[in-house]
Amino acid sequence: YKLNMEDLERGEELGRGNYGTVTKVLHTPTGVTMALKEIRLELDTAKLNAIIMELDILHKTASSQHIVDFYGAFFVETCVYYCMEYMDGGSLDRLVNVSFGETVPALNPGSDDEKEIVWQGVPEDVLARIAGSMVKGLRFLKDELDVIHRDVKPSNVLINYRGQIKLCDFGVSGQLEKSIAKTNIGCQTYMAPERISGEHQNTIGTYTVSSDVWSLGLSVIEIAIGQYPYPPEAYSNILAQLKTIIQDDAPTLPSDRYSSEACQWVASCLVKASNGRATYAQLLQHQFIQRDEAKARAEGGDAVDMVGWVTAALKFKEAKAAHAQALATTAIPQRP
Ligand code: ADP
Ligand code: MG
Repeated sequence: YKLNMEDLERGEELGRGNYGTVTKVLHTPTGVTMALKEIRLELDTAKLNAIIMELDILHKTASSQHIVDFYGAFFVETCVYYCMEYMDGGSLDRLVNVSFGETVPALNPGSDDEKEIVWQGVPEDVLARIAGSMVKGLRFLKDELDVIHRDVKPSNVLINYRGQIKLCDFGVSGQLEKSIAKTNIGCQTYMAPERISGEHQNTIGTYTVSSDVWSLGLSVIEIAIGQYPYPPEAYSNILAQLKTIIQDDAPTLPSDRYSSEACQWVASCLVKASNGRATYAQLLQHQFIQRDEAKARAEGGDAVDMVGWVTAALKFKEAKAAHAQALATTAIPQRP
């Protein structure tokens, strides 16, 4: 099916990144709900055409359960658009940016005996499923498409109500990467130390698979603790942050909430020397993931309740938003 703007009915905005917006859309000829990503670029038609052609390899992602499906790309004026699978649980950065133990009043306190909701964090079995899915997605990109992700971070890890975890926004198009790389200065970086201090830091070719492994480790910690793992002092200033990443010890998973296997797994991603980091094969063979594989094969009681977890997490998020809204609209009596 050739996609074009006329066939897309716009819904709510799902989010905004550095280069554009993501919108929920309905593809009217098929009735399929999709996520439409818009990337604003100042490029000529030849370059835009090159990007659309490069994006075409995304059609091959359909065979992986851990990569969002791709429906097609096109451009209008100087914006590139592409349609991907809509993930109804959104991205993990938004879902889990909650401190462990945080409490909000229930959504409908009168309707049942529940008065408040306490955030229970990400249990180890759920974290293992997320981490394992991410590695499988990354390995698929490398082995099947010969693609390095280059932008592994919690906002590019999506979840749906079925409890599936899928990656999006990987670097399939060299032309697209080149066009947007210049503006990519976030206030939280997932860049590996060698990307910061390397002599070839401005060239795309030096990015290796193990640079993605670093970003994976950092993302898994962020998902576990609900915040970017480096201390706020480090990311108030981008240069200070880059220095911290190079000089300080890498962050770790909290050992009071996660097993030594989980902590060890993350630590094997966050080795500062890139050649010392674990490979995808090693990460998948590790106990932390193997235990999850065994649970995935198990029936009933032993299975990881991903659906239950995502449902509870979305309920918490909704209650928190409703509470914030209520606070904002409550008239505060003004003292004369
Ligand atoms: P970033 O990844 O830096 O946050 P993006 O422009 O890639 O910026 O995405 C903006 C937001 O849109 C994401 O953070 C995510 O919450 C949401 N989003 C992106 N793709 C999808 C999708 N396929 N389904 C649902 N939500 C999505
Ligand atoms: Mg993204």
